[in-house]
Formats: sequence, C-alpha cells, structure tokens
Amino acid sequence: MLNDLRRITHNFVQEPNLELALGNLVSDIKACLNTDVCSIYLVEDKQRLLKLQASDGLNPKAVGKTVMRFDEGLTGWVAERGEPIKVHNATNHPRFKQFTDIEEDVYSGFLGVPIMHRRQVLGVISIQQTESRHFEQQEEAFLVTLSAQLASTFANVSIRLRNVGQDSAVDHSGLVLQGVSGASGIGIGHSYLVQTKIEFSDVSLKKVAAPEPEKARYFNAVEKTKADIIQMTQRMAEQLPKDALAIFDVYQQLLDAASLGNEIVDKINQGWCAVSALKIVSEHYVAEFEKMEDPYIRERAVDVKDLSRRLLEYLTVQQGVKPTVPHSAIVIAEEVTASMLAEIPREQIKGIVSLKGAENSHAAIMARALGIPAVMGLRDVPLLSLDDTDIIVDGYSGQVFITPNETIVEEYKKLESEDIAFTDLLKREADEFAQTLCGHRVSLYINSGMGFDSDIAEQQHIEGIGLYRTEYLFMMRQRFPSESEQQSFYQQVLADFEGKPVVMRTLDVGGDKQLPYFPIVEENPFLGWRGIRLTLDHPEIFLVQVRAMIKANLMTNNLHIMLPMICDVGEVDEANRLINQAFNEVRIEVLEADPNAKLIKPKVGIMIEVPSMLFQLDKLKGKVDFCSIGTNDLTQYLLAVDRNNDKVASLYDSYHPTVLAAIKRIADMTKDAGIPCSVCGELAGDPGGAMLLTGMGFTQLSMNTQNVLRVKWVLKKAQLECLEQLVEDVLHCNRPDQVKFRVNRTILNIGAASLLRAGK
Ligand code: PEP
Ligand code: MG
Repeated sequence: MLNDLRRITHNFVQEPNLELALGNLVSDIKACLNTDVCSIYLVEDKQRLLKLQASDGLNPKAVGKTVMRFDEGLTGWVAERGEPIKVHNATNHPRFKQFTDIEEDVYSGFLGVPIMHRRQVLGVISIQQTESRHFEQQEEAFLVTLSAQLASTFANVSIRLRNVGQDSAVDHSGLVLQGVSGASGIGIGHSYLVQTKIEFSDVSLKKVAAPEPEKARYFNAVEKTKADIIQMTQRMAEQLPKDALAIFDVYQQLLDAASLGNEIVDKINQGWCAVSALKIVSEHYVAEFEKMEDPYIRERAVDVKDLSRRLLEYLTVQQGVKPTVPHSAIVIAEEVTASMLAEIPREQIKGIVSLKGAENSHAAIMARALGIPAVMGLRDVPLLSLDDTDIIVDGYSGQVFITPNETIVEEYKKLESEDIAFTDLLKREADEFAQTLCGHRVSLYINSGMGFDSDIAEQQHIEGIGLYRTEYLFMMRQRFPSESEQQSFYQQVLADFEGKPVVMRTLDVGGDKQLPYFPIVEENPFLGWRGIRLTLDHPEIFLVQVRAMIKANLMTNNLHIMLPMICDVGEVDEANRLINQAFNEVRIEVLEADPNAKLIKPKVGIMIEVPSMLFQLDKLKGKVDFCSIGTNDLTQYLLAVDRNNDKVASLYDSYHPTVLAAIKRIADMTKDAGIPCSVCGELAGDPGGAMLLTGMGFTQLSMNTQNVLRVKWVLKKAQLECLEQLVEDVLHCNRPDQVKFRVNRTILNIGAASLLRAGK
C-alpha cells in the first residue's frame, strides 16, 4: 500500500496540467481500490459549494459543471462534517440526492473522505460501487492518508494552474496565495528571487515554446558539472582509496548521453524546459532505484540525487551574473535574511515574501523594523514559480497576488494611498511625548539593530533604544567581527543617541538566527543552543563583545547591557562575573593610557522571555539593574508554539490570556522588587498591546520606529483608568479572540477606529 500511495502522489505532483493530474488521480485511485467510480470535488471560493472537478466513472459531461451545496447529498455531508463517511446502500440513505447530470443513481456503495488543510475543507474524494459494498477499514485509511498527503498540494492548486503549457486556456492572472502577515502595508512590484540553495521541491514543471535554447542550457550545465567532477577526482585522489574514487566514474557515466542525458534531451524535445526535464527524469530514476532489493543498486539513488542537484544548481544560478533588481522589488526567498536585504537599496524593496517563517520570525521583525510589507509562510509554493512576475503583497491580510489584474492593482493602489494619508495624519497629530488623555506619561524607545534613521528617532521624540539586537552585525559578516570592529560600530550607535540610554543586547543567535560562519544544526533549535547559553559556553566571544561595548561607551556613558534568553539566576551570576572581568580588563587598559580617566560601569539587565524566570523574579534583586520582557519568545515558550512555524501560526498569539497574565505577574513582581521593567517584544509596538501594557503599569515600551506614531496616537486618546479596566476585563477571558474583541471595542470607544479599518 505504501508503494501505491507513493506512486499515486508522485504521479499527481509530477503532472503540471491540473486537469490531467486530477484525471490521473481519480483513475489511479479507482484502479487501486478496485471500484467503479472515483471522483474529486473541490470547494468553490470558500462558499460552501463543491464542484465536481474530475471523475472516472461518472458522466464526463458533468465534470467542471455539477455544483452542490454542503447540505446536499452524501458528498456534501462529508464536507459538512469534515470526516469520512461510508454508506453501503447510498440510494436508500436519507442524505442521498440525485443530481441528474452526474447519473449516480445506479451506485450503491459509497465512501467519501474530506480533503482538509489547516482546518478548512478543500474538497472531497469519493469512491462508489454499482452494487452494495461495505468498504473496508483499510480502504478508508488508504483514502484518508492519500487525502492528507495531497492536501497542501490542493491548497496551492491555483499556482500549478499558472504553469500549465502555453497553449492552456487557463487565465493566470489574479491568483491569490494565503500566507501569514509578517509586516503590515501594501507592496506592489515585480518579484526578485534570492536563492540560497535550490531543491527539486522548489521547481514547478514548465513547458516552453523553443527547445533549442533549453538544450544549450542543459549541455552547458553538463559541461560545468563534468569539469567539477574532474576537479573533485583530482582533489580527492590522494585522500580516498581507489575503490572509493570509482564513484566519480559513475557520475561521469550517468552524465553521458547514453545514460540520463538522452532522456533529459528527449523530455526537452517534448517541450519541457531544461529544469523540468531534469526534475522529471531524475525523480523517476531515484524512485526506481529506491525500489530495488539490491542494496548496491539502491544506493545509486543517492548518486542520481546528488548529480541532479549539481546540474540543477548550474541550470538555475547564472554563475557570476546577478539578475538586476527591479525598480520596485518584491524580495522573495525561502527564508529572508538580513544580509539579503542589505544587498538591495532600501528604496527599491517594496515587499517581502518569505516562504518560511511566521508572524514573529526574525525575518518578519526585520521587515517591520524597515517598514516593508511582508508575508510569511507560503511553504507549499515552489519558489521558482514566483520568478519574474508582477506581485502584490498585502501585509495586512497575509495575501500574495500573482500577476494581479488591473482592477486588483487599482484597488491596492487606493489602499496604499490611504495608508500614506493615515501616516500623514499620525504625524500631524503626534505630540512630543507619549501620554494618555489624562496626562500619564509613557516613555517610548525603539528596537534597533539593522541601522536606523536617527532623524526619525529625533523627530518622533524617542527616548532611547530599548533593544539593540547586536546579532545583526554578526549575521552580516563572513566571520566573527573583531573587538575593534565591534567597538567602532557600537560607538557610532551610542554617539547617535548621546544623552539617551541605549540598551545593547549581547549576542542572541541560535533559533532562527544563524551565523553563516558558525552553523548550529539542532533538532529543536528554539529549545537549543541559543542566546546566553551559547555565549556562556564561548566566553571568548562574550568577553570580546562586552569589552567592545564598554570601550565604545567611554565617551558617551549611555550604554546598558542586556542578556538574552536567561533561564535561571545562575546564568545571571556567571554573566555578571564575565562582565566584571571585561570591565576590569578595560579599566586597566584605559588607566594605563590616561590615569585620570573615569570609567563608569554600565547597568546590566536581562530579558525576561523564558517562563522559568517567572518563578525566579524575587531572586533577581541586587543582581540586575533592570529587565525587559521579550514577549515574542515568552509567547512561544508559554504556549509551546514555535514562533517560526506557519503551521501553528494561528496558535501563536501574545493576546492569549495566559501570556497576558504572565506579563502582569512580571509587572507586579518587578515593581515589588524595585527592579525597573520594560517591554521590548512586538506586543509593545502593537497599539492594542501598548494599551494593555500601559494598563498593567508599564511606563517604558520599546518598539520598531514604524509603530511609534500609532502607539502615541492611541495612548493619547485613552484614559489610564479605562486601560486599567480593560486589563481587569481581559484577564478574565479564556481565549485570545475574546481579548481581541475587548481591545478592539475599547479602540472603537476611544475614537481610534481608523486603526481597525482594513489597511491600518
Ligand atoms: C523577544 O523575544 O520578545 C525579543 C524581543 O527578542 P527576539 O525577538 O530578538 O528574540
Ligand atoms: Mg527573544
């Protein structure tokens, strides 16, 4: 059965023409389960309507025409209930409904399973039998497995339609992909793909009109790959025994025309582009080799995979020639990183699409900091299918429009200008400092690390930097930055904010923040070697960074040092010991050069983002000067929801009453302990979040520059008492949506409804 499942899914995914793919699928299922009919119905535009899309057995004229409601017939019942339904005598069943064009009244045995994706019904697969038939448990399990395996492909069926051959009658414009909102705003532009390493899963099959240029590209890639293999053989000749070197001969043979080569050229002659031809042939051979009993032959699958990947790289990356960045670029990558964005002039980036990640991934935080609309988590979309196309990124709804038609473009241009008008209004109405209607002051700081516009900070009366993520400096390099490099970088930041506090966080890598030169491969990166854990294990990295910070602070004296990912007081003690050591070393150096120099030890604080700290807050007295709540990580650890995983994005919510109760507890306990506590997670920059935090008693909030005006605006309209009441109220809620409802109701009541309108 496993083999049948593999074969059927493989056939379906391989066929780029959706109509044919669905046709093959129903025939394969019908043959495999030995039934009279197999049909597939897909939901029409979320309208609780099912349309017959393919059938082997029912009247072919009904395909593409017959539509039924969820409350009609047995198939509708499957969709309505969202679970498999087996009926051995369908025509006698009360839910049976006769659809005349389908001609199914002659069938008795019925088994239908829903196609479910992210809790939504996408369609129904049904099988039917002329005579009464009790379908077996195994048959039901088979269909359920197949449906679950294909669900994500069905979810993006529309993107596949786009790649049907040129003679297709399908209208490709206006396709919409649903992701997760990463940064609000509207981005209209042309795609710019930044590829790190292309995998075959990124490739969607495509046909082309002219085979000759494709053959030339393929031969070129073969020549380059052959040259690589010769080089590898020479390099390895002294290190590997002769029999091991034989593998490179196998590679050369596989590349020969008589082996894989001919078949690939054949596929190109049939109209496939070179990349598609390579994918079709190599996946076929890999599947064949993997089926073999003989372990030696089975191993060849690995060789074919490796070789094909090398060819793919040459076919997809034009060595040394970078495509020009479009004037209005929508940057698209498997996972967007700081260095990718740094290579493109900021004014050219109109939007970001990251196939991996979710609302509070660091890529999304970066996008928000830069004010670039972003959508995350389109993981089922083949990367290459987004190449060279017009795109609209709707950072509010998390939608991405591929080759949108004129009406959609016009609509979005209107929304874009409404956005600009709203920001102008916020600027006009902004007071110098943030305060509530009753005059209660809240100090606003910014989160930074990617470079910032100090003019904006000045104009918006920012009171300092509440979180400086130093890891970005590390992520943009090919090696760890030296002490003097770090010192001059930090010096600039501290000087830009002279007279105002700058909270610099020590290196916080791990999780979804990787250093290209220090890769950390772990099963559970967010529970692994992150933040302070890594730097305490590598005091040589920590000490260099802290020394650089302390030296950078000599002129300005506005540095605060903050430790990330602290999960117990022991780590605070150890970090304090190292900071004291670094401080004494710098002091000796400085006093040697200038005996009158005055060196002030910076304040040291910690991030509260690991739930264990909730139960150690009383032990922090005398050990830290301040703390700051990292709501991004606190949310993921309290709710056990990976902040980077779009599959659970709907469960990740800082408005969860548990998260809010934890934050309130921290507010109360740090107040009792006399430790100043601020909030620097993304919740602080969300206008509703800022209202809640102010109501809880926080007077220092740190956020990205883009949110400062919105937060000031909403606070200015609210009375402190009303915010305190709101907190009282939400702490009694059971679910995040109930909290959201109450927060939004307050936003409406205080006259800040514009924040809630679409596009705000
Ligand atoms: C947080 O976890 O809330 C935080 C501010 O740190 P980061 O997002 O960089 O992990
Ligand atoms: Mg964090």
